[in-house]
Amino acid sequence: VVQWSPFIQQFKKHKYPWIQLAGHQGNFKAGDSGTILKKLCPKEKKCLTILMQDILRPYVPEYMGDVEKDNETYIQMQDLLCEFDSPSVMDCKIGTRTYLEEELEKARQNPKLRKDMYQKMIDIDPLEPTEEEKLQKGITKPRYMLWRETISSTSNLGFRIEGIKKKDCHRNNFKKTKTVDDVANELKYFTEKNSEVINKYIRRLKAIRATLESSTFFRSHEVIGSSLLFVHDHTGAASVWLIDFGKTTPLPTGETLNHRTKWVEGNREDGYLFGLDNLIKIFSELNSV
Ligand code: ATP
Ligand code: MG
Ligand code: MG
Repeated sequence: VVQWSPFIQQFKKHKYPWIQLAGHQGNFKAGDSGTILKKLCPKEKKCLTILMQDILRPYVPEYMGDVEKDNETYIQMQDLLCEFDSPSVMDCKIGTRTYLEEELEKARQNPKLRKDMYQKMIDIDPLEPTEEEKLQKGITKPRYMLWRETISSTSNLGFRIEGIKKKDCHRNNFKKTKTVDDVANELKYFTEKNSEVINKYIRRLKAIRATLESSTFFRSHEVIGSSLLFVHDHTGAASVWLIDFGKTTPLPTGETLNHRTKWVEGNREDGYLFGLDNLIKIFSELNSV
C-alpha cells in the first residue's frame, strides 16, 4: 500500500507532509529535524554502514545510527526532502531483475501451481500462458517471477518507475510502462520539460555513474531492488540519490560484478549500470525534442 504522506515532518521552522512512494506505511516514522526513521533491516544497515566510508557517500542519505521507538528498532537517516519546497518526487527501481537469485531458487523448491499468479497473469496478458498452463489454470512461482519483470521496463531497459508524486497528483501504476517512449512520456510529465531541472538530473546521474564505476562497495555487491530517488521543486533545485538497500547483498570475498553484463542465472549480474545508461540516454533525449 502506497501512502503519500504518512506523517508531517519538520525542518528548521518549516513543516511539510512527508512523501512516501513505495513500501509499507508502517516502515517509516518522523525523526529529529531533517531525518526520518526506517524500520531496521540488518542487510540495509550493513550496506549503509559501508557506504558511509565509500566514495558513494555523497549520493546516499546520511546514516545516523539506530533509534528505539515503540519496541521497534529504526535506522535514522537524512530526509532527502527536507531542503526542498513542495517537491516533486520520483522513485525508479534500478536493475534488470528485482528479486535475488536465492529467492528464485527458493521459489523453485516449491513446484506448487499457483492459481492466484495465473489469474494475475491473464488479467495483464491473456495471451501469455502456454496451452498447458491454460489447461492447469495455474503457473509456478518462478515462472511468474520471471514473467513479471517483462511487463514493465525492468527486463528490457534495466529500470522501472515505481512512483511519481507531483503537487496535485500522485501515481504508482507504472506496471505496464515498458518502452522507451512510455518512459520518456512519464519523464516529460514529471519534469514538465523544465530544462534546468532536466540538466541537473543528467549531470547528477552522470556523476553517480562515474562514482559507481570506481566504487569498492558497488563492485562487490549484488544491488537488487534499490532505487534512485529524484527530487526537484519550483525553484529549480533538483537532485538524485541512491536509496533502499534491503536486498543489496555482498558477493563472496574477491568476487565482483560489472553490472552491465546480461544476467544468466548463476552470474548474479543485476544490470544496474545497463539501467542507468538507459535512464541517462532517455533523460538526454528529452532535451533534444
Ligand atoms: P520497497 O522495498 O517496497 O521499495 P522499502 O520499505 O524498502 O520499500 P524504500 O524503498 O527505502 O522503502 O522507501 C520507500 C519510499 O520512501 C521511497 O520511494 C521514497 O519515497 C521514500 N524515502 C525513502 N528513503 C528516503 C529518504 N532518505 N528521504 C526521503 N524519502 C525517502
Ligand atoms: Mg524501495
Ligand atoms: Mg526495500
